Amino acid sequence: MRVSLHTLGCKVNYAETAAIKDKFEEMGYSITEFGNDTDVILINTCSVTNNADIEARKIIRRAKRKSPNAFLAVFGCYAQLKPQEVASIEGVDAVFGQREKFRVPTLVHNMLGGEKTQINVSCIDDLPFDAAVTTDNDMRTRAFFKIQDGCNYFCTFCTIPYARGESRSMDFNRISGHIEKIIQSGYKEVVISGINLGDYKSKSGENFTDVVRLIESLDIDLRTRISSIEPNLLNDEILELVANSKGNLCPHFHIPLQSGSSEILRKMKRRYKSDQYKDLIYKIKNKIENCGIGVDVIVGFPGETDEHFLETYNLLNNLPISYLHVFTYSERDNTPAVNYINPVPVNIRKERTQKLRELSIAKQRKFYLEQVGKVLTVIPETYIQEEGMWKGWSENYVKVKFVADQEIERKFYRTKINSAIGEYVYGELIL
Ligand code: SF4
Repeated sequence: MRVSLHTLGCKVNYAETAAIKDKFEEMGYSITEFGNDTDVILINTCSVTNNADIEARKIIRRAKRKSPNAFLAVFGCYAQLKPQEVASIEGVDAVFGQREKFRVPTLVHNMLGGEKTQINVSCIDDLPFDAAVTTDNDMRTRAFFKIQDGCNYFCTFCTIPYARGESRSMDFNRISGHIEKIIQSGYKEVVISGINLGDYKSKSGENFTDVVRLIESLDIDLRTRISSIEPNLLNDEILELVANSKGNLCPHFHIPLQSGSSEILRKMKRRYKSDQYKDLIYKIKNKIENCGIGVDVIVGFPGETDEHFLETYNLLNNLPISYLHVFTYSERDNTPAVNYINPVPVNIRKERTQKLRELSIAKQRKFYLEQVGKVLTVIPETYIQEEGMWKGWSENYVKVKFVADQEIERKFYRTKINSAIGEYVYGELIL
């Protein structure tokens, strides 16, 4: 029996799909690439924006057209939030919620041959923590390791607390064992992931700072990237650990801002003001000069005037950050913000999105130019035959190309950066 899986959304979803794939393999199924003819199709959905729902519906229909006789099951955030809507999409045979997610292989196995669409979505109170690890490419350069799930923050635009439940964390004493397994599988980099990662709290009382301290203390040939962390949870001790790291911790943070206006931040129920965010970015840059800093930002939140948007734009324009992930606000059912007055017209949301995307390109360009003359450590990921070059990421999250033989070892390469052109910096190996 063949099964193919597809993931939409965040790094945590990718890690979870991989864990489910492994279970299918253990049960004797063969994994086939998504899009090929198959017997079972599994789609792990996201629901972060309205577009994510639309994308999920598109993918479901396309997959069913490709394999009309396959059993098609849908799980993930969209399935948890709108099970009836997902079940009504033509071709869907089963819908699973978050609690059922890690039992999908057994449940699907038992359902094969059934005739009616089945919905298995239960309440998400007191969900257990389920571990998940995955890779993002064939070279086994980078794994994603989920140590935390869910969120208790209830920002007013966000569906995640409703889709994934309360914050919960992996047992602290299991973390180093998982890292050991990741190393044994041949990885050189791991992205420590979670939905609200900085809110990690083990049952034995450790917090995220303890996790970072533990990782730094390990004697490993692996570098660790912190996937995304709320600004109010990125404390001085974590910064010190990264600043003084012997190489286990990458000088790269991804810190959601969402808005540069404190008034909008308050309406979003974010837990910081724009000045605090600004101070944090300068503090990072003072301690870790060449740190890569990525920022999430939402435009078009209800009540966002031109002045509020300008506050966001000016703040980001002035801050020493490296790139932006720009999200256009979309109304999500059951969130408080859906009822807020003064919605921003869609065309203005799009214009603001475009302005910030252009700013992101300029920010990245500036950061890449600053790399010229510096030495970065790169893990080769993909060989580009026609250029005779490898490309990969540096520790501070810069895309680097360098000339080398196609047959090279998968390890860290020190690379002197000579130029920054377009979307890459170009370097030469220091042997
Ligand atoms: S911190 Fe806010 S935006 Fe992030 S997952 Fe939690 S509720 Fe959503």
